[in-house]
Amino acid sequence: MNVDLHCHSTASDGLLKPSDLVSRAADKGVTVLALTDHDNVAGLAEARSAAQARGLRFVDGVEISVSWSGITIHIVGLQIDPGNAELGAGLETVRASRTRRANKISEALDEAGIHDSLAGAMAHVGNPDIISRTHFARFLVDTGRAPDVRTVFQRYLVMGKPGYVPHDWAMLGDAVNWIRASGGVAVVAHPGRYKLSAQEMRALLAEFKDCGGAGIEVVTGSHAPGQYREYGRLAREFGLLSSRGSDFHGPGESKVNPGELPQLSEDLKTVWHDW
Ligand code: AMP
Ligand code: MN
Ligand code: MN
Ligand code: MN
Repeated sequence: MNVDLHCHSTASDGLLKPSDLVSRAADKGVTVLALTDHDNVAGLAEARSAAQARGLRFVDGVEISVSWSGITIHIVGLQIDPGNAELGAGLETVRASRTRRANKISEALDEAGIHDSLAGAMAHVGNPDIISRTHFARFLVDTGRAPDVRTVFQRYLVMGKPGYVPHDWAMLGDAVNWIRASGGVAVVAHPGRYKLSAQEMRALLAEFKDCGGAGIEVVTGSHAPGQYREYGRLAREFGLLSSRGSDFHGPGESKVNPGELPQLSEDLKTVWHDW
């Protein structure tokens, strides 16, 4: 089995439309695929029918933006019901705040002498409800501010840089509740990306478990091999199920293709063990 439970499409900040993402995953040998676009489920129907056509098992997913202890963290929901009203209403509030933030990012860039960035970002947006920093980054690359998206983030879009605006996303407990209300399982996305001390990471995982969270990404495109072991240990310590996902956003932008990751260590209990 080649299980990839974290990918993006043009329904959020990915470069491929859902059916093209599924084709690429199938070509790369993925057998179980989740589409987990940021804060919305608009791509799932197209991805599901493409997956059926290609003989892949498809998992409905979402990646919810959360503020916790002053930082942004991401919670992936898997096996969700995209039609669930509680989940839908929750995601709607996050999307509305995302649009307000996009206006603020544009104003901040304006003050830094970079004009018309909202229109510029919108030219890259696949789903008008989801304007992401990634879309601003693509605009900034287009206009020659940096050679690639990664560099542009470091220069303009991370904390302390001209286009960064602080933002309050969903609360951790709310995001987990929306996922569970829709029948899904909540998973901490790419834990190695958060700037947390060992003690803070433990506090996050303890609170996540208390809220009803169930899993953690151990093997992800964002982790170095040492982190596979580190988060495997934390999964065991906290009794969390382990997940594997590339966090693929698109050719040229993502280092790792769908399914192109090491397998989870065999002693870990996988998030898909009872699917
Ligand atoms: P947003 O949710 O709009 O704040 O955008 C977050 C998205 O930006 C993430 O999901 C990644 O796709 C992308 N991203 C965040 N940090 C970086 C970075 N340092 N380099 C490249 N892409 C990044
Ligand atoms: Mn993204
Ligand atoms: Mn993420
Ligand atoms: Mn992601």
